[in-house]
Amino acid sequence: LIEKLQTHFLSHSLQAKMSRPVQARRLEGIDKNIWVEFVKLAATYSKVNLGQGFPDFPAPDFLTEALTRALSGGNHMLHQYTRAFGHPPLVKVLAQFFEKLLGRDLDPMTNVMVTVGAYQALFCCFQALVDEGDEVIIIEPFFDCYEPMVKMAGGTPVFVPLRPNPPKDGKLMSSADWQLDPAELASKFNERTKAIVLNSPNNPLGKVFSRGELGLIAELCVKHDVLCISDEVYEWLVYDGKQHIRIASLKGMWDRTVIVGSAGKTFSATGWKVGWVVGPDRLLQHLRTVHQNSVYHCATIAQEAVAQGFQRELMLYGKPESYFVQLPKELQQKRDWLVQSLDDVGMKPIIPEGTYFLVADISQFKSDVPEVPNSDEPYDYRFAKWMVKNKGLAAIPLSAFYSEAHKNNYTNFIRFCFAKEEATLKAASDILQKWKREKTSS
Ligand code: PMP
Repeated sequence: LIEKLQTHFLSHSLQAKMSRPVQARRLEGIDKNIWVEFVKLAATYSKVNLGQGFPDFPAPDFLTEALTRALSGGNHMLHQYTRAFGHPPLVKVLAQFFEKLLGRDLDPMTNVMVTVGAYQALFCCFQALVDEGDEVIIIEPFFDCYEPMVKMAGGTPVFVPLRPNPPKDGKLMSSADWQLDPAELASKFNERTKAIVLNSPNNPLGKVFSRGELGLIAELCVKHDVLCISDEVYEWLVYDGKQHIRIASLKGMWDRTVIVGSAGKTFSATGWKVGWVVGPDRLLQHLRTVHQNSVYHCATIAQEAVAQGFQRELMLYGKPESYFVQLPKELQQKRDWLVQSLDDVGMKPIIPEGTYFLVADISQFKSDVPEVPNSDEPYDYRFAKWMVKNKGLAAIPLSAFYSEAHKNNYTNFIRFCFAKEEATLKAASDILQKWKREKTSS
């Protein structure tokens, strides 16, 4: 009898377990992630990885030395928790820095919060500010996590694309040739719109929004009482003398904008995962609620070193020795090198005004990549997979940065990252040249 009861109990509890849905409803439809698939492909096949966005050159000495000092400097408290909303030296120097950039007084305790990379900063924004039924406008192409994060918060993403206007003189396209249609943008704002996500300089295109474009967005935000989540992780990476304009500095925008930043991008140390938000207390107080109920503390020692990095940059602000002046100079050369290499083989590059990404047109390579029967995989995905497997060069398909409804209009492009050592870019160029020779001889 005991055995029977045991079997009954076991099968009953098993059944109960199996019939209960384990996945929370908020995760439905957001389980796919481009990076999981393409990072694995690059790790398996690539000889040269220009896919995911991270530098393969070292972080600056002053930053790594600051970390070493923090580690061995005798302050053992740097191994313990620090202030939950940001290590005091870091929030203080960030406040000082942004006071300069925004031309307004900031309180380090209420206008700045430190996060685990810009990624957690974004997560806090969406969780804190977006409700069930709210609409959030996202400009395409976009850093892919915005869409699932809006959905997880119960919101509805509303997409508006940057539209390419190729120059008529046969010159290479620039990221500035991708523009919003003002009427189309205005048509997306309504009484349900809670926020717009702005990413300037933009990943993946490298577009740096002009004052006019930002003015248009700001005007609509003010008119419709809409918030702006302004992802500015590439704020220092702008080229050709272009200026990065902070939308929070435009009329009526400070009170409705959260600026998102990243030490990973700023100091070429993506593995440190130190990020921040800067904004008015009326918004940040709600981000603090999300932070205190999810991550709560960020690594003290990394924050200490980033604080020292910012102190150095504050001292050298605008001077030639400043890392924020030197890094874009170096990256601009790398950009030009890659533009040249791609143009030379007919993979038409769109010249980025900012970021360390570059989008290239692969429409002339269709005959290289075999069709996959019965597959509805877009051409850029097929191309990127084929290229890494057959040529050893990793890149990311551009349509990954579009919503499901608009993906199919943008399948002729791939994205490269050029924050790489000269040797890496040279190796990429060698692969492309060899490919070109094979094409011409066949
Ligand atoms: N926003 C954008 C536009 C990015 O490109 C990235 C990183 N690729 C992030 C946010 C996330 O930054 P972090 O690594 O600091 O979390």
